[in-house]
Amino acid sequence: MANRERNKKILLELVKQSDNSRCADCGEPEPDWASYKLGIFVCLNCSGIHRSLSSHVKSIRLDFWEDKLVEFMKSNGNARAQAQYEKAVPPYYYRPQREDCNILREQWIRAKKLKVFVFALLQEIVTWYNAIRAARYAYLKTAYPTGSDEELLPMITRNYLKEGYMEKTGPTQTESFKRRWFILDSQNRKLLYFKGCLDAEELGAIFIGTECKGYSVKECVPLNARGNKWKCGLMVETPERQFVFMCEQERDQREWLEALRKVLSRPMSPQDYTSKQDFSVL
Ligand SMILES: [Zn+2]
Repeated sequence: MANRERNKKILLELVKQSDNSRCADCGEPEPDWASYKLGIFVCLNCSGIHRSLSSHVKSIRLDFWEDKLVEFMKSNGNARAQAQYEKAVPPYYYRPQREDCNILREQWIRAKKLKVFVFALLQEIVTWYNAIRAARYAYLKTAYPTGSDEELLPMITRNYLKEGYMEKTGPTQTESFKRRWFILDSQNRKLLYFKGCLDAEELGAIFIGTECKGYSVKECVPLNARGNKWKCGLMVETPERQFVFMCEQERDQREWLEALRKVLSRPMSPQDYTSKQDFSVL
């Protein structure tokens, strides 16, 4: 019994230390509970989540603590555990606050406990991905009220036939070549180009019609070589303009030619005509 009182006293002293004086998970002041598996002090609410995840918890006031568990708590504590369990947490990852609902807390505790943030992040990515798909599906339902699921579902996910860097020159083909990130969106018949591969907004887009409408693609040697370092050229011709692109390797050149020909060979649908008309950058 002496041990019981002594251990309780040690725990009550420990929980007063500044690092332990707030719940390790949500920051609630004066935590009354502890996970003796992780060595952290937590509030009643978070202790319930730890318990449901089979992490061992005890009340520091009401439960019996064995000497070795008290020693473990002494040598760990919130600050140490935090350094150990949270170091892999990306800075943008949401950390629950005391007023947050249990779902947010649980997500956090679960991820921390598993020490597998990748898992939690993947879940989040999947959730977002589906949310985006759901929003796009709802939009398509409004835009094409008579469209069947069979027609609409392929339109939800963008279909990028190929992406990668190429060098691009300007309309007179005397401008110096600049390296750009290209994406061929076969669904919308668009070759988009961006400053870099992480840019969200494209610098421009080229509509890719069909050969009988005056569109084509072929290998080419550029008229000028200002600024270009890459040697494998291709030319995309539209009724309005010729575009010259340079690829680093023959393989890229071949793949771009194949991908563009694939789009060129597909007949244009009524929607394609509309999307071409909407097209501001030609
Ligand atoms: Zn808490």
